[in-house]
Amino acid sequence: MRITRVAAVAAAATLALGLTACGGDDGSSEGTGAGSKSFAAGSTMERLNKAQAIKIGTKFDQPGFGQKGLSGKPEGFDVEVAKIIVKELGIPEDKIEWVEAPSKVREDVIVNGTVDLVAATYTINDKRKERIAFAGPYYEAGQNIMVKKDDTAITGPDSFKDGTKKVCSVTGSTPAETIKQYVKDVATQLVLFDTYDKCRDALKGGQVDAVTTDNVILLGYIAKDEASFKLAGDNFTKEPYGIGVKKEDTDFRNFINDTLEKAFNDGSWKKAWDDTAGKFGAELGAAPTVNRY
Ligand code: GLU
Repeated sequence: MRITRVAAVAAAATLALGLTACGGDDGSSEGTGAGSKSFAAGSTMERLNKAQAIKIGTKFDQPGFGQKGLSGKPEGFDVEVAKIIVKELGIPEDKIEWVEAPSKVREDVIVNGTVDLVAATYTINDKRKERIAFAGPYYEAGQNIMVKKDDTAITGPDSFKDGTKKVCSVTGSTPAETIKQYVKDVATQLVLFDTYDKCRDALKGGQVDAVTTDNVILLGYIAKDEASFKLAGDNFTKEPYGIGVKKEDTDFRNFINDTLEKAFNDGSWKKAWDDTAGKFGAELGAAPTVNRY
């Protein structure tokens, strides 16, 4: 009787061990490492997982979304969303190579393979979809205007119609295109740089009267310098943020969409926000519906 019970316990323990070992191989393991996940042969996911390395394009100058900090690595909501995707690929965080991707070069670095994906306050639109594909959206921002704290002359985009005020934005961005509909003279009123921090400096120095881009980017600059800047008016566009990948890579796009949906539901998307841009006064809102076009 005693021997039988011992044998039964041993058998149960063996079975449990066996089940644990199998559980590690089913692709749902939280662990990282090439062996801990399996992906379809020939897929981008398999290639990246096997390489245990990934290159990600993001911004380096946007507080709350992608800003290079003292650590030397970018920090922000886009960076955290990208890390969620990297974890799902079974790649350790320290194997990410972060590549600065200013607005104008985003499609190029995806098409020419400089990066594997772009997470960079990247508005999904049809023009960009001619060259690349988007997973997401994972957030919806809106274009707004930042002015000096004591400015009372600019109250919204219509304030540029008088032809006198200068507004700064970034080459290759959607806000730079949209604001052209509001200024009287593009040549004298619209000042373009390659990054938003240069626009912020130009506003602070008085070379321009306003900076226009997405509200959440501007809120990041305001949070860092509340004595100098404020928003002028309400959002006047919708800017749904997507993850940029190669146009033909539908499997990778589907994988990222699945990962985003999981993150919307398991709390990691909200945590990413609360730890970053959420500190700067913008609302996260309800999780968007991913667009599986
Ligand atoms: N979301 C806009 C865009 O993709 C503006 C922000 C940016 O330039 O990154 O063009």
